[in-house]
Amino acid sequence: MTLTATRPALSASLSARVATLEALLARIAADFSPAVLASSLSIEDMVVTDAILRNKVQIDVFTLDTGRMHGDTLAVIDAIQRKYCYALQVFRPEAAAVTQYITVHGHDGFYESVDLRKRCCEIRKVEPLKRALAGRKAWLTGMRREQSVTRTELPVQAYDAVYGMEKFNPLADWSEDEVWTYLKALEVPFNALYEQGYRSIGCAPCSRPVVAGEDVRAGRWWWEQPDSKECGLHVGPDGKLQRTKVEAS
Ligand code: SF4
Repeated sequence: MTLTATRPALSASLSARVATLEALLARIAADFSPAVLASSLSIEDMVVTDAILRNKVQIDVFTLDTGRMHGDTLAVIDAIQRKYCYALQVFRPEAAAVTQYITVHGHDGFYESVDLRKRCCEIRKVEPLKRALAGRKAWLTGMRREQSVTRTELPVQAYDAVYGMEKFNPLADWSEDEVWTYLKALEVPFNALYEQGYRSIGCAPCSRPVVAGEDVRAGRWWWEQPDSKECGLHVGPDGKLQRTKVEAS
């Protein structure tokens, strides 16, 4: 399919959201270069990825391969390469730290306690994220407020004191329906697991499909309480999601 920057037929309200998204991305590229999108290959991150790559915005995109991902999730990397001719940078955990964790706690030790789960996320996600963000002036995510109780006050823009740079969540006020409408209208590739009942996808042993009526992130670390369900990628120095709200213009 030929890529085009022409916007397809969307509702007026979604077209307005897309225009706001594209304007914000252009502002980030102009004011916070070098900036980077941390993509989990979720449907939300695919919206932001598409808006960046289709419009050739100077914002890089990377993902974290934790070593415990589904094959369907990793297949999205190849789908991006095919559609946009863009090779995502892939960051992986330090092999020695993974080996030590498995030796001491077992391959699936994260099921034993919240602390061991967070330690696994620290090794497989947070440490690689630190390397991925080194030297950047801003980073972006696809997080949305309605995804879970831990994200209800998610700002569009805020200073990230942990990583010492600006952080943007351009889809903070998007609905899940709007995300899907965008993906389908622009024929953006997405993870096949969404068609098997998954609505939020992380590592294979820590993600499951959800049923009607469950929270979007109910399938993530389902054995824990809802208020502990962040992996450490988006928390502040106090261990909670950063909430200093500064709306992007
Ligand atoms: S999501 Fe699960 S497997 Fe992945 S890093 Fe966290 S605890 Fe480990």
